[in-house]
Amino acid sequence: PYDVLVVGGGPAGASAAIYAARKGIRTGLIAERFGGQPLETLGIENLIGTPYIEGVQLGRQLEEHVKKYPVDLMNLQKAVKLEKKDLIEVSLANGATLKSKAVILSTGARWRDLGIPGEQRFKNKGVAYCPHCDGPLFSGKDVAVIGGGNSGIEAAIDLAGLVNHVTVLEFLPELKADKILQKKLASLTNVTVLTNVETKEILGDEQVTGLNYQVRGSKETIHLELAGVFVLIGLVPNTQWLEGTIDLTDRHEIVTDKVGATNIPGVFAAGDCTDTVYKQIIVSMGSGATASLGAFDYLIRN
Ligand code: FAD
Repeated sequence: PYDVLVVGGGPAGASAAIYAARKGIRTGLIAERFGGQPLETLGIENLIGTPYIEGVQLGRQLEEHVKKYPVDLMNLQKAVKLEKKDLIEVSLANGATLKSKAVILSTGARWRDLGIPGEQRFKNKGVAYCPHCDGPLFSGKDVAVIGGGNSGIEAAIDLAGLVNHVTVLEFLPELKADKILQKKLASLTNVTVLTNVETKEILGDEQVTGLNYQVRGSKETIHLELAGVFVLIGLVPNTQWLEGTIDLTDRHEIVTDKVGATNIPGVFAAGDCTDTVYKQIIVSMGSGATASLGAFDYLIRN
């Protein structure tokens, strides 16, 4: 068996595996797709100490770094079940079962897509999902934020300080964000809020140039000219396979404590799949290190 088995090969999993292997303990890592979300990212400008790196390059460097240590790296393997017996058993989609004394879950998350024409085509070309990451790219320009929940309204407030103008589009008749955020939003002079509207299409040439929407119930299409569309309609953690096995929040995030421990002894979690408040690369790497040190501490006490 492994001492530590990491499930997930994004920034959190890579960090957890490196910290474990550096303790000289037997470490394995399985990943459905090693590299994780950075593989879908064009440029990263907020990984401190690295002023700029392309996402694909970061994915490569994570792999290179993990491979500097004797980690059993099993790429293109999907975990489908976790069971605590004497050891912790992780079953894979290919039928194999791996056993380990401790497990670190770092299966990440994915942004919910709008699923409208233009969204896929203009991903990273004006369609964005993370204001902390891509906000500065739209300095002085006009953007839209789709989604009037907390994350959408936080994004709109954040972006209003960076860009020329923000239009918020919410499908429901009213914003769902906390009142205090709505009040702050209403105090800003360069934000327009549209409720009860459906975004129909994102348009552009090389880059986004605008979007079309309809007031729900009407057939009239209205065009907005803008340079960026931030889609903030929810982040979905990759935890479906853990449903009923491990404590999750109502947003399906793994509940963790200060050292990354879950409710199952020996099972730790890190990164975007957990209830950590901020979902970022640097945060995920930090929580991967934390969970790994937590797991090591667990091993020497058990
Ligand atoms: P992920 O990166 O999601 O990795 C999860 C890993 O788990 C993957 O290897 C996946 O294949 C694997 N996995 C999932 N399910 C299973 C399973 N059942 N079995 C086995 N393996 C599984 N953050 C920044 O800090 N700066 C940015 O500029 C930035 N830009 C972004 C741009 C885009 C388009 C996106 C989508 C995200 C961006 N982020 C950015 C967010 C950042 O990428 C994430 O916060 C970070 O990647 C989370 O790391 P993670 O390791 O927790 O999860």
